Amino acid sequence: MNLNLCVLEGDGIGPEIVKEAVRVLRAVCGARGVGLSLDYALLGGAAIDRTGVPLPDETVEKCRAAQAVLLGAVGGPKWDSLPSGLRPEKGLLGIRSALGLYANLRPATIFPALRAASPLRDEIVGAGVDIMVVRELTGDVYFGEHSRFERDGVLHGRDIMGYSVPEIERIARVAFGLARRRDRRVTSVDKANVLETSRVWRETVTRVAEEFPDVALTHLYVDNAAMQLVRDPAQFDVLVTGNLFGDILSDEASMISGSIGMLASASLGDGPFGLYEPIHGSAPDIAGQGKANPLATILSAAMMLRYTFDLPELAGAVEQAVSDALGTARTPDIRGDGLPVWTTEQMGGFVAQRA
Ligand code: ATP
Ligand code: MG
Repeated sequence: MNLNLCVLEGDGIGPEIVKEAVRVLRAVCGARGVGLSLDYALLGGAAIDRTGVPLPDETVEKCRAAQAVLLGAVGGPKWDSLPSGLRPEKGLLGIRSALGLYANLRPATIFPALRAASPLRDEIVGAGVDIMVVRELTGDVYFGEHSRFERDGVLHGRDIMGYSVPEIERIARVAFGLARRRDRRVTSVDKANVLETSRVWRETVTRVAEEFPDVALTHLYVDNAAMQLVRDPAQFDVLVTGNLFGDILSDEASMISGSIGMLASASLGDGPFGLYEPIHGSAPDIAGQGKANPLATILSAAMMLRYTFDLPELAGAVEQAVSDALGTARTPDIRGDGLPVWTTEQMGGFVAQRA
């Protein structure tokens, strides 16, 4: 077996953290006779500097030719004064849509060594937290018509929210498919007591659930879901929701874990292809100093092994190595608990050796 990746290092700490994730991938694949082919391409500020645009055609082609994409982070103050169409972030939005990625996956877990770093009390996280938030990325009020108008001298703003049945079906299938590899429970989040969009969402998810009789489905209103996430997060396995509610809930869920430097993500479409990246930004304030935490990127690479390549044993080995690393030392972004402070490279090296 050979894994074909396109690597987009991006800006700021991007190259440093991606280097460590690649090191871990090489180690975990090499030790198990799995081949790894890497093709590097430019995205974001790095692409602007070299080609004048944030998403060169060559980058799209290289990503399409690969089975998965590993991305660092893009952006930084250097490019902030450019017109909005030419900013690094445009490259990120552009590559997601060029690759047809409509499902954003964000795990929220608590590593045993980081229990004390979670803002939730021990008795709440005691049962263990392992949530996968699945957010729809290409529809909802974000892509509806936005307008403002005046009536009787009063200014109004208006945004149109909507989802079609096929859009809901495909994201629901992603969620149920994921649940099958996990604890076989899906919670669908909507606001069906108020919104017609949500009533169509609920009916459709319920219908798709019939294709997955081995997965248990529950529905929650978004206000209740927001509360339950901090009251009793252990009740959730896969949580699926639309773009707007997912934006809010995935940020809420991510805080359960403790540090921004730990949070991985995947963007999926139809089929196994995926784009994997940490949820944090390019952290220009610490770029080049060897202080960046590479674990979010390393955990994103583990998600790639699991979801694109269906290699759960390799993914599990990386995750276990990360867990061991956190019990041994910390990068400066995580509370120290008296453990030694390591550089980006030391952290990556430890995980690569253990995995
Ligand atoms: P973006 O708009 O791209 O999300 P941002 O400015 O909102 O960027 P980040 O770039 O994520 O946010 O940085 C927020 C803070 O978190 C910064 O102080 C940064 O140094 C810190 N940070 C982000 N990622 C890491 C990391 N991997 N390791 C250590 N610190 C990090
Ligand atoms: Mg940000």
